[in-house]
Amino acid sequence: MLSVHAKYINTMSNENKTIHEFDFSLICEFFSNMERQGPGSPEVTQKALGFVDNLTEKSLIADIGCGTGGQTMVLAQHAPGRITGLDLFPDFIDIFNRNAEQLGLHDRVKGVVGSMDNLPFQTGELDLIWSEGAIYNIGFERGLNEWRKYLKTGGYIAVSESSWFTDERPAEINDFWMEAYPEIDTIPNQVVKIHRAGYLPIATFILPENCWIEHYFAKKIKAREIFLDKYAGNKAAEEFMELQPREEELYRKYKEFYGYTFFIAKKIG
Ligand code: SAH
Repeated sequence: MLSVHAKYINTMSNENKTIHEFDFSLICEFFSNMERQGPGSPEVTQKALGFVDNLTEKSLIADIGCGTGGQTMVLAQHAPGRITGLDLFPDFIDIFNRNAEQLGLHDRVKGVVGSMDNLPFQTGELDLIWSEGAIYNIGFERGLNEWRKYLKTGGYIAVSESSWFTDERPAEINDFWMEAYPEIDTIPNQVVKIHRAGYLPIATFILPENCWIEHYFAKKIKAREIFLDKYAGNKAAEEFMELQPREEELYRKYKEFYGYTFFIAKKIG
């Protein structure tokens, strides 16, 4: 699992640093000061949910790589059914369950610690698989293929994933992604992968810039202040913080070439 963690960190930063060079709990703590751990927004979660039409109070929904549950709570407030949020980091799940309790959603929204490569669900039991900004940890195609068996026929999958917006792009941003996540691809290729994995593609849309700038980078700056206040003088914490602005610099410079796309698809056959 360490390589998964390392990939997570590499995607969040842009250095050849691995998890071994950071104190893991510090990283968790930093991200747990944020409502979301990746680009997204309540509006986008609701928009994606608008393409899903099979849900009832009996529905079972999984939110894979849920983090602290920012998007899960939005989902719960706009969809019927029971939701299981699953994440590898116990600290995130603690916060998730506290949030669910505070919002009065705990009777139907539950966070569990687990790994996306070994899901605790029964074959064919899920009506909807949700996953925002997390499928890259297992890989887009592998996730689509392996998670499919947990869905009912006619069930939906809704995932957001990094995409190229053009067929060619500057070397600097290409190199960054080849290091962080070489499975990034163009949207038409990703739609083909969805179809090949046994789903009917229903909708795709690109996440608007505010999902990055207002809902992610701006929140990171706040989280950074809290974090550095607490860990002033801690070398690992300061080093980790130094890597963070790089992600935003690259985004601002190259946002016409890449971003996040939401894909909604239905299990067929
Ligand atoms: N969906 C959330 C979090 C996205 S960040 C949001 O949009 O805000 C990616 C999440 O994937 C992190 O919370 C990380 O802990 C989780 N993760 C990484 N590897 C995982 C694995 N193998 N299994 C489950 N979750 C994993």
